[in-house]
Amino acid sequence: MVIAKRMEPLVAGSSVIRKLFEEGKELAKEVGAENVYDYSLGNPSVPAPDAVKASIIKILENEDPLYVHGYMSNSGYEEVRQAVADNLNERFGSEYKLDDIIMTVGAASGINDILDIFLDYGDEVIAFAPFFGEYRNYVITAGGILKAVPADTKTFQINIDALDEVITEKTKLIIVNNPNNPTGVIYSGETLDKLQAALEKAEARIGHPLYVISDEPYRELVYDDNVLPFMPDHIRNCLIVYSFSKSLSLPGERIGYIAISPKMDYYEEVKAGLVVTNRVGSVNAPSLMQLVIKECLNERPQIKIYDQNRKMLYEKLTSLGFECLRPQGAFYLFVKSPIDDYEAFVNEGKKQHILMVDASSFGCPGYVRLAYCVSPEMIQRSFPAFERLAETCRALKG
Ligand code: PLP
Repeated sequence: MVIAKRMEPLVAGSSVIRKLFEEGKELAKEVGAENVYDYSLGNPSVPAPDAVKASIIKILENEDPLYVHGYMSNSGYEEVRQAVADNLNERFGSEYKLDDIIMTVGAASGINDILDIFLDYGDEVIAFAPFFGEYRNYVITAGGILKAVPADTKTFQINIDALDEVITEKTKLIIVNNPNNPTGVIYSGETLDKLQAALEKAEARIGHPLYVISDEPYRELVYDDNVLPFMPDHIRNCLIVYSFSKSLSLPGERIGYIAISPKMDYYEEVKAGLVVTNRVGSVNAPSLMQLVIKECLNERPQIKIYDQNRKMLYEKLTSLGFECLRPQGAFYLFVKSPIDDYEAFVNEGKKQHILMVDASSFGCPGYVRLAYCVSPEMIQRSFPAFERLAETCRALKG
């Protein structure tokens, strides 16, 4: 092997979700696409708002192409960063300034920029199970070690009680994803206050500050009268990572930002560092898309469509006896395997042409994730297959 040792497992074990997605394509060739119920991938099923297309056209027709397609300050166009800061301040009463915003190549690159500036080799990053499986790959690539706090399977809130023993002197960062992929749970303000208290206690023990990455690609996807807490109101050392992949259905365009809380410890040092890692990692975020999102900061996803899917799937599966978490946000349904052998459950699903992601890859074996960012017709068509799956599970339980 010529590649770095730490990268070998990543290369060998390609993404479970991507693998399942590819399997779905093969299955579709065999049995017809309409007979495959693919709940694997979190790819938005609602098109980008019309305002996105209108602003692309307006920018291309009216702006100087040397400006639109040129290099700019590595952190992004100043007018865009100022607009993002103003928008956050209007919405959340925060006090971000232009320099606190760094435009990134989606949330993934925002997280990687932060890992790169904080981690020395062997440093540790904590995530709360269940968590987005790619975190593990991001952390290893940055030379760190990902440590998981086991899930609190009663509430699926952050398991604060189990946090302290996972924090060591090597811990630098904690990742919190709210609303959560894969559970659809929203961590409450009360939970986040407890988290801050636990971090302060641990900081006194280990002798250095801990920083929280607040990974928020699903911020705008919140159902019913649930409210998503604004993380910097609860967490002192908070770095928001935002993405327009889900909120504006632009995952392929790769656009997001980091917002650096002015209240954090060593604020100037962190800011200066992130400018460097962002420049090294991606030079700058896509220029046209920066200008587009500036025009679309008040656009919101068509939550009604996801909400209908959410209700339809949740109600059907619970009526069949499956134990599901009622999602409060994002577009995922988290379902408990009705049989002890959860891998067998995923395989029985496949036999019915239902593609579900085994939650072991999210650090929470015994559950599966269904991404309901799919067409309502596919959900309807999948119901007889779920009925057969429920029957099979009943028979297997005996
Ligand atoms: N974080 C979470 C929790 C996600 O679910 C995803 C994508 O699915 C990402 C980060 C990466 O998003 P982006 O497309 O903005 O890089």
